Amino acid sequence: MLELEKWVRPNILRLEPYSSARNEFTGVAAVSLDANENPYNTPYNRYPDPLQKALKKKIATVKGVLPEQIFLGVGSDECIDVLYRTFCVPGQDNVVAIEPTYGMYKVCADVNDIEYRPVRMNERFDFDVETLLARTDAKSKLIFFCSPNNPSGNCLSAEKIEEVLRRFAGIVAVDEAYIDFSSRPGFLSRLDQYDNLVVMHTFSKAWGSASVRLGMAFAHPAIIALFNKIKYPYNINLLTQRYVSDMLDRYDQVRAWVKELVALREVLRGELAALPIVREIFPSDANFLLVRFDNAPAVYSYLTARGIIVRNRHTVVLCDNCLRITVGTAEENRLLIQTLQTYPS
Ligand SMILES: *Cc1c(COP(=O)(O)O)cnc(C)c1O
Repeated sequence: MLELEKWVRPNILRLEPYSSARNEFTGVAAVSLDANENPYNTPYNRYPDPLQKALKKKIATVKGVLPEQIFLGVGSDECIDVLYRTFCVPGQDNVVAIEPTYGMYKVCADVNDIEYRPVRMNERFDFDVETLLARTDAKSKLIFFCSPNNPSGNCLSAEKIEEVLRRFAGIVAVDEAYIDFSSRPGFLSRLDQYDNLVVMHTFSKAWGSASVRLGMAFAHPAIIALFNKIKYPYNINLLTQRYVSDMLDRYDQVRAWVKELVALREVLRGELAALPIVREIFPSDANFLLVRFDNAPAVYSYLTARGIIVRNRHTVVLCDNCLRITVGTAEENRLLIQTLQTYPS
């Protein structure tokens, strides 16, 4: 059952949120003199809908959830931050996460003065449920999973995540930024089953819209209501709401991009595997490959000097001598491979 009193910061439970002009009157106005807006320069003179109702209705249809189960943030990054600010008391609570994973979970923990407890995965980037749960205590409010995981690229075991959802007395956040590239179903369909589940998606990757900054969190309506209570009133601007609404009408295009990128990923995998300097390529359900080289820092410098930028993960736990390579266009991937073929081995 939903145990909000146990999970949520007491000050957030008590909080009386800012009530904006757009909150207090939501009907259709003949004359709007309530928000001190300039009457000229329509439509951008008006404050946008603080709850993005029209956009959420469209997203709900595409994702197969209810509008009340959706929170929209300025990127997933805002969704991550709002999780901390809703559930974790600074200087007191802690969160547990797999390691290695996306860096923002730790940065947000540090900003909010929350203890961050990484649990190292094994060499195949798989985690052990008992080891993970053993790192939790009464002050553990959140567990972060990233599936497919960044930087490793693999999906985590859905059975293991479900076991954690059942056994952990706190919130389990599953970041599915790359789920569109995976053949696995993801966790949205389990929202009705687990009150403590928060799933995160983004328009930054498969949807080709990283620059407009729109991220989504999906959860029980009572959790979404808390997120709405503490967010900045007009966090999602009208330009973004309109742009993303148009993108949602282009879902067929997005699916075509995904299909092509997944095919290009496998071509790239084959070409990389044929290079003598490549030691290992990890399985990927995402639009990137984690690749182990004989000497990753040297390969990284070689590529950078030739204008090809990949992500050096050499200093990350379990990723020694690894570069994370995003799947580009066929032409970009060809340039990468050609350049690597000239690397003096
Ligand atoms: C890229 C990425 C995101 C996207 O973040 P935005 O703020 O939505 O751009 C989220 N999570 C992971 C793991 C990522 O790699």
